[in-house]
Formats: sequence, C-alpha cells, structure tokens
Amino acid sequence: MSRQLIAAGNWKMNTNYEEGIALASAIAENAKDPKCLVVLAPPFTSLAGVSQAIKGNPNVKLAAQNCHEKEKGAYTGEISIDMLIPLGVEYVILGHSERREYNKESNALLATKTDLVLSKGLTPIFCCGESLDIRNAGNHIDFVANQLKESLFHLDAEAFGKIVIAYEPIWAIGTGVTASPQQAQEMQAAIRGLFADQYGAEVADATTILYGGSVKPANAEELFANPDVDGGLVGGASLNAEGFTAIINAF
Ligand code: PEP
Repeated sequence: MSRQLIAAGNWKMNTNYEEGIALASAIAENAKDPKCLVVLAPPFTSLAGVSQAIKGNPNVKLAAQNCHEKEKGAYTGEISIDMLIPLGVEYVILGHSERREYNKESNALLATKTDLVLSKGLTPIFCCGESLDIRNAGNHIDFVANQLKESLFHLDAEAFGKIVIAYEPIWAIGTGVTASPQQAQEMQAAIRGLFADQYGAEVADATTILYGGSVKPANAEELFANPDVDGGLVGGASLNAEGFTAIINAF
C-alpha cells in the first residue's frame, strides 16, 4: 500500500514575516520531487506571505500550528479556522506536546478541535507522544494509544481516513536526542495496529504516520526507511532551507 509521504516543517515561534517568506521560497524552489509532499507550518503572522511564496509548487502545502476550537467569538488573541482557510491553509497541527503542556490542551479538547478542522475540509496533523518517565516505566504504547483513542476514535472510518498522525516522543523534541529507528518503528507499528483493530487493515494501511523528534539530515534516511514511518514532523531542522531540503530528499 502506498501512503502519502510527508516532510512537515513546524517553525514554532520563529521567523518574522520577511524571514518566513525567504525560508519558504528557498524550500519551495527545491521541493520538486512529487514522491514527498512538503507541508510548512509557519507562525500565523507569516501564513499570508508564505502562501504567496509557495504558490505554483503543488508539492508544497501550508499548515497552521494550531487553531481555536470555536468558530468565532469573544476569544481575544485567538485564531479561528475560518481565518486560516482564505490564506490557503490546508493542514492544521493539533495536539503538539508544547500545546498540551503550556496550554493544557486535553485529549477531549483535541477531539473537539479535530472535529472542527475536519468539518471545514482541512487535514489535522494529529500529534501524540509520551514523556521519558512514561517510556522508562514501560507504559509508552498504552499511553499513546489512549491519547489516540480519546481524541480520535469517536470518528467514523471515512473521517478518520483524512487524518495524518505524528508520533513525537516528548523526550526527543528539541533535545537533539532522536528515537532510534527501532523505537520509532516499534511505536508506529503499534499505532497502525491499533488503527487496524478499530478501522480495519485498509484504513490503517492508508494512514500516514510521521515521526517527530530531532529529525535532522543525518538521521532522516534511516528513520524514513522504516516501513511504518511515512515521513517526519520537523522542528529545529526545518528552519534551515538546505538542511530541510536534505530531509525532504531523504526518502
Ligand atoms: C516538533 O516540534 O514537532 C519537533 C519535532 O521539533 P524538533 O525537530 O526540533 O525536535
């Protein structure tokens, strides 16, 4: 089964408007291999500029790093999904561990956000992953399974089939410590098995599951070579056009 391979760049709270355009332009110029879809998630303030910069390259898509769970209203400082759509946003990262930790986003809230994003026809990039304590206690697979069940398993198979998953062990995010290819494969095979139990083998086989956590040019190839690793969600290394291009070309 051939799945969509994706290299997604999460720029987090980095790049101003001009820097974002320059970075996106440099990446879009090089991202020519249709085998790998490139998804860029700049800060909200750069979305309009990046949208223009990637126009004309069908391999490069735009993502938001988050959206609010309500469609509109008195939520000062928040961004709604309807504000993102006219900018050309097609993907929304949901459940990143930084938002789970700093913004106290729960599995239940993420279920609501997932429903909203899907209802608007956009694709959630749904993040899951365990802390080091949970892994050391040997509970990592159960913990991640619970995150996925509580936020996603109310969906029917058709809706579920539109989601991209990103497994991101918290201990590997921004730390320079990468999960070994075996650790990534073990978890991502377990996630796919969970999806097969819930939705059947066909849906599970078609689901793109990314790995995230200190992916860099030096380790991308051996991570992406695993049968259940369909690409990466990349933070720090996506801020450098040359390095991110090397990751895109690692498939
Ligand atoms: C991320 O924030 O999604 C991430 C994986 O970051 P980094 O690549 O910097 O570890």
